[in-house]
Amino acid sequence: SPEKGANFLEEIIQRDLDQGVVREVVTRFPPEPNGYLHIGHAKSICLNFGLAEKFGGRCNLRFDDTNPAKEDDEYVRSIEEDVRWLGFKWDRLCFASDYFEQFYQWAVELTSKGLAYVDFQSPEEIRRTRGTLTEPGIESPYRDTPPEENLKLLERMRSGEFEEGQCVLRAKIDMKSPNLNMRDPVIYRILKRSHHRTGDKWCIYPMYDFAHGYEDAIEGVTHSICTLEFQDHRPLYDWFLDNVSVPHRPRQYEFARLNLSHTVMSKRKLLELVESKIVSGWDDPRMPTVSGLRRRGYTPSSIRRFCEEIGVSKADSLVDVELLQHCLREELNKTAPRRMAVLNPIRLTILNWPEDQVDMVPGENNPEDPSAGTRLIPFGRDLLIEAEDFMVDPPKGYFRLQPGGEVRLKHGYLVRYVSHREEDGRVTEVLVEADLQSRGGEAPDGRRVKGTLHWVNARRCVPITARLYDHLFTLRDMSKMEEGKDYKDYLNPNSLVEVKGFGEEALRDAEPLKGIQFLRHGYFCLDPDSSKDHLIFNRSVSLKDSWAK
Ligand code: ATP
Ligand code: MG
Ligand code: MG
Repeated sequence: SPEKGANFLEEIIQRDLDQGVVREVVTRFPPEPNGYLHIGHAKSICLNFGLAEKFGGRCNLRFDDTNPAKEDDEYVRSIEEDVRWLGFKWDRLCFASDYFEQFYQWAVELTSKGLAYVDFQSPEEIRRTRGTLTEPGIESPYRDTPPEENLKLLERMRSGEFEEGQCVLRAKIDMKSPNLNMRDPVIYRILKRSHHRTGDKWCIYPMYDFAHGYEDAIEGVTHSICTLEFQDHRPLYDWFLDNVSVPHRPRQYEFARLNLSHTVMSKRKLLELVESKIVSGWDDPRMPTVSGLRRRGYTPSSIRRFCEEIGVSKADSLVDVELLQHCLREELNKTAPRRMAVLNPIRLTILNWPEDQVDMVPGENNPEDPSAGTRLIPFGRDLLIEAEDFMVDPPKGYFRLQPGGEVRLKHGYLVRYVSHREEDGRVTEVLVEADLQSRGGEAPDGRRVKGTLHWVNARRCVPITARLYDHLFTLRDMSKMEEGKDYKDYLNPNSLVEVKGFGEEALRDAEPLKGIQFLRHGYFCLDPDSSKDHLIFNRSVSLKDSWAK
């Protein structure tokens, strides 16, 4: 019996196991290799692989590569990499295109039973005679061609005698069905295109609805899980399986797809963003793709955690991207070493510090994790601080550096304002005096100092470029665009802001994509485009949690 808190798919599977309907659970993740995986796919991956794991079953990675027009090996490779990166191991690696001959044999079986026919109407005519929700469809004049004749025509379709669009193979079901999917759907169409795996062997290709259930049947899939928009296709899924002899009878179940705020998830649109160079590639850190999230600094565990949090349901909804960010922030808070970087620097000069003297002060690597140890940071006379950490005429409640004020330099000393310099109305340097008895940041007399600033040593630091990201789109719910508007009308012009700054020397050892906290700035990771002399850091997520339950 199902455990408490189980989702509806777990309940179905538990019941099927209890009742002996299935002995072993077999699921599959079936992407079409026509683009890179996105966070919505990650939900499907976590679900399918997760269910197999939970019930001691198996999950296949299957490429649903039945349409040669948009498919490519580049996508196959990226999908394999992303599934592995997310931490899942498939039982079998399958390609729908490996079953082309078997699909064809089932089409022959349907045709010989009088359940399929070759239709020479134009695509336009077929669309027009399909009818609508209120109007029944009109039967094709080719609908009653005898099976022997259809078998010959099908063979000729396969051998390339007809041109693209000249004819199709259709299932003979019911042109009056209230379900439009059942009105003699197309099974095969002619496409004189090279396939990424079968080359020019085939010039007819099966349609998704026809092929999908058969793919499941061949692989012994027990629970074929897909998104809600296929609910109305389920009768067709069943019809194809029930009308030929298959080695195994799978069942289809539907769940709600993931929609995420401030982004689009259709592969067509994501491809357009890449091709029009609006983003730098499929792995641009602003993209909702798995590779984009990886480059942004997301970890597999934070993405899996997110998929757990959102759960599965049968109702479509929009999930705030802030929840995804929350999952990463919580993890990085525990694991990311702390470093200091100044992104918009002004000089801070300590007048009473000897010019060439360096004090290596210890800084804890992670206050959340004592085992992370400490590093030594070179404190000296010439430092850099953030421009916004000094104000000549601050508002009330400003605890950072100001005329007459005193602040703590993180891991270093207390310093008191002496004077400052301006150039063209901009502050360029603040001159201070340090309390030399306050190493580590505590005043010997116990006086209270509220503000703590991060800093770097101007003579011993590394130049860095920080890429600060924001939502790719300004509209929260991209399914609610104004009429007549295109999704590109909602692009956020500030989705990427690049700033040049300086970081502490320890950043030289940063590993690509490993999370680091820049104190007060957020979590960052070294971008793989970096070189020794040019360190680029992507901001993964800010420190402030804007996620409200
Ligand atoms: P697109 O419409 O952008 O082409 P797709 O759904 O056709 O996307 P597939 O490659 O067919 O992309 O998807 C593979 C699997 O991932 C399918 O089982 C599909 O249901 C699932 N999937 C795709 N998008 C989402 C999503 N947003 N949320 C959950 N599952 C999804
Ligand atoms: Mg698709
Ligand atoms: Mg699809």
